Amino acid sequence: TEKNRDDYVPLFAAFESFYLRYVYRRVKDCWNRPICSCPADTVTLKDRVTKDYGWTFEFTGTETKCLNLGSYNYLGFAQNKGPCADDAIESIHKYGIATYSPRRELGTNALHTELEKLTAEFLGVEDAIVFGMGFATNALNLPSLLSPGCLVISDEKNHASIILGLRLSGATIKVYKHNNTHHLEKVIQQAIVNGQPNGKPWKKILIILEGVFSMEGSIVKLPEIIEIKKKYGAFIYLDEAHSIGATGNHGRGVCDFYGINPKDVDILMGTFTKSFGSAGGYIGGSKSLISFLRANSHAHCYASSMAPAVTQQILTSMKIIMGLDGTNEGKKRIDQLARNTRYFRKRLAQIGVITYGHEDSPVVPMLVYLFSKIGAVVRTLTKRQIAVVGAGFPATPIMEGRIRFCLSAAHTKEQLDYALQVIDEIGDSLGLKYSRKPRDLN
Ligand code: PMP
Repeated sequence: TEKNRDDYVPLFAAFESFYLRYVYRRVKDCWNRPICSCPADTVTLKDRVTKDYGWTFEFTGTETKCLNLGSYNYLGFAQNKGPCADDAIESIHKYGIATYSPRRELGTNALHTELEKLTAEFLGVEDAIVFGMGFATNALNLPSLLSPGCLVISDEKNHASIILGLRLSGATIKVYKHNNTHHLEKVIQQAIVNGQPNGKPWKKILIILEGVFSMEGSIVKLPEIIEIKKKYGAFIYLDEAHSIGATGNHGRGVCDFYGINPKDVDILMGTFTKSFGSAGGYIGGSKSLISFLRANSHAHCYASSMAPAVTQQILTSMKIIMGLDGTNEGKKRIDQLARNTRYFRKRLAQIGVITYGHEDSPVVPMLVYLFSKIGAVVRTLTKRQIAVVGAGFPATPIMEGRIRFCLSAAHTKEQLDYALQVIDEIGDSLGLKYSRKPRDLN
């Protein structure tokens, strides 16, 4: 009831009731749409009815098979058949469904240790540690690495898991303009001059950023940022959730993309939820960093460890990406993703819609600007059997609503051409061709 909801969430009740009554009611078919298939190159969406304008819903019988441009399945490893699925099923027969224990108790198995060794090799660092959840990898490790008296310089577009982890740490947080290295340097200089409020120097300075930014599709200016970190004796924490597997000639992330020695980045974080078609996260770096986390990380010491089938899925897909399966399947997928990305971005530019991000980023935000247009575009695309994600405030600035396409090596040219044709058509009817002059002015 209204009363109960107010008891539980007094701070947000007013916002929530406004949001549910006036906003969500009009667009409720565009989010929280349950799926009933493997979210691969296609995905089947289920229709449902929402009750009382709330978040509770019931399913109806209708199911729609859609082209999937919304899931983070960059290398096409989200699948329910093939070598990854076979190995994962076998791992369940051997180890069971879950581990029922944290790593330090009875929760470490041979798959975890093999994965940590392989992840370190893949990243080109001394050691790595893996966790059951990507979000928790940031949110629960940053408080172990930072404390009051530390200074963090954080990109304004960093993910919610980073922001939460930084707040929990008690460190001083300064935000710099997205991917703007001049502003980053200015913020560091000012903070160093001013020092801590008690006049002491900072215990440690950490610059924190993402490889490919999840809402912008931009690629971090890593070479310049490494120079800045060296100049000021800072450390870098790089979240590669969207870049690991998906960028660089060998899929090894932004260091591979720029030809940088990964040891120049102090803390390499990433998730297994995207390119590896699995779940969980990792941190890679020096032996001393990783053994510190093994002793101090809440996510390692107090949370149950990564499930066996999830671990096995990562092992098998990582070996394919690295070519350790004896085929060039991994390289083929990396190259296919790069081709799909460039093709899709080029054609969108020709159509005349506005996109953000780097030409090699498989995260492709298409700007619709007005909040009210997000629902209309998502709904129209779904009716044309294309599943996408719409994003608006507070995930984006209020006037920068967008549709976020995620490309995959699993998409065929025919599938992308179909999506592009539909975007071209609805671009006219919904007024999305912002980069084109109105016809009468041409
Ligand atoms: N970091 C970034 C940059 C992300 O975009 C996400 C989620 N997409 C996460 C961390 C959290 O990862 P997960 O979804 O694997 O929990």
